[in-house]
Amino acid sequence: MTGGAIELRGVHKAFGDVEVLRGVDLTVATGEVLVVIGPSGGGKSTLLRCVNLLEPVTSGQVLLDGEDITAPGVDLDQVRRRIGMVFQQFNLFPHLSALDNLTLAPRKLLRTARADAEQRAHTLLERVGLADKAANYPRQLSGGQQQRVAIARALMMDPHVMLFDEVTSALDPELVSEVLDVMRDLAGSGMTMLCVTHEMGFARELGDRLVFVDGGVIAEQGPPATVLDEPRHDRTRQFLRKVL
Ligand code: ADP
Ligand code: MG
Repeated sequence: MTGGAIELRGVHKAFGDVEVLRGVDLTVATGEVLVVIGPSGGGKSTLLRCVNLLEPVTSGQVLLDGEDITAPGVDLDQVRRRIGMVFQQFNLFPHLSALDNLTLAPRKLLRTARADAEQRAHTLLERVGLADKAANYPRQLSGGQQQRVAIARALMMDPHVMLFDEVTSALDPELVSEVLDVMRDLAGSGMTMLCVTHEMGFARELGDRLVFVDGGVIAEQGPPATVLDEPRHDRTRQFLRKVL
């Protein structure tokens, strides 16, 4: 067993000739909230996608709870069940109600009985403040509500870690806080979280550690307040000047 819920060791990722991740070493401790910031195109989404094996790494290793999930012969479905991921675009199934969006994967993948899956789904919808929206279809929900359904859906599989990729970036400003509230609640419950975000207030309040990714490497990291208020590198300073 190693130290982290997630550990990346020398991760490289190339698309053809383009090297997008150029040697990333990163450990996320169990229960830690790690926030990733950085300029567009720097490799943040690719990093998350390598963690849940949506992208195979070119070289290096990814460990989940100490197990090398980039080793040959690893059961991808098994691994992905332990990792919840939420995207900028909510990716809900448009033809399914909120309730059915939540119950689909457990019923299909885990063969959970409908009644049991629905009971858990109602509990999670209540947890994200949507107890009364179970029957609604995505088009009948605001962006903030859809994103909360997406988070609840990811929690249905009882993941060990949650990955968030700019989950508030597509939302109208007044809807951002309701999604951040859900993430705050999750962080408080001890969930291990790897969050790419532009919400510096969130990073400061809830991040145990802040990582600045630029050009496919971790250019700087540390306690959020330290990185945000006293960045050590020019690249970090330049980026923060634009976003703060
Ligand atoms: P970020 O999330 O930090 O904006 P990404 O990880 O999305 O950055 O992208 C990093 C770089 O990798 C970009 O130059 C992007 O064009 C490239 N890239 C990402 N996915 C692919 C892909 N599937 N094929 C080719 N290039 C890709
Ligand atoms: Mg991205």
